[in-house]
Amino acid sequence: MPMLMEKERTLVVEYGKKLITQGLTTGTGGNISVFDPETGYMAISPTGVDYFETAPEDVAVLRASDSKKIDGRLKPSSEYLLHSIFYNNRSDIRAVVHTHSPYATALATLGEGLPAASYLTAFAGPDVRCAPYRTYGTRELAEAAYEYMTDRNCVLLSNHGLVAGAPDLAGAFHIALTIEECCRTYHLARSIGKPIILPEDEMQRLIKKFKSYGQ
Ligand code: 13P
Ligand code: ZN
Repeated sequence: MPMLMEKERTLVVEYGKKLITQGLTTGTGGNISVFDPETGYMAISPTGVDYFETAPEDVAVLRASDSKKIDGRLKPSSEYLLHSIFYNNRSDIRAVVHTHSPYATALATLGEGLPAASYLTAFAGPDVRCAPYRTYGTRELAEAAYEYMTDRNCVLLSNHGLVAGAPDLAGAFHIALTIEECCRTYHLARSIGKPIILPEDEMQRLIKKFKSYGQ
């Protein structure tokens, strides 16, 4: 029998390793999922498993609407609600990446969002908000993240990390990586002076321009 959501589960494994190699998380922190709107199922990384020890069969398949487990030999990520809330409420999001990347987490530890200090912030929105602190793995955390990500593709989680969403996993990962880099340069700029923040109309122009960026 072919594996259910084999393509998506293989992608989750591949990008999980990238979370570590690109410095977006350490240990078993963070999690990744991909959604299939045809079945309503999502493939999500297993909870507490080393990304380099994870096989596609370990990636859990859950029904996004009620979190019912459909397949997978291990328990799903404790943050499955943080992923499914986007699939159940936003048709523009079909992949979610959650990281504990250091510069985004540092800013979120101050309870601050990321202003439009770098033009690259436009990959996420005119800015990135910071959702209030909630306990990991709870519906309250999922709801706070969802609310604060309104009209954006990324949100910081107070004292915790970052969440990014996009139409595909490469896109969500790219946003997570780019926003971590923006948080890093914002941190550097703030440590030597007062960053100049780009105006809202320029951010709207960039958001449009990025839609056709690349080959
Ligand atoms: P999981 O290992 O359950 O995915 O949790 C990691 C995490 O980042 C919790 O917020
Ligand atoms: Zn986390």
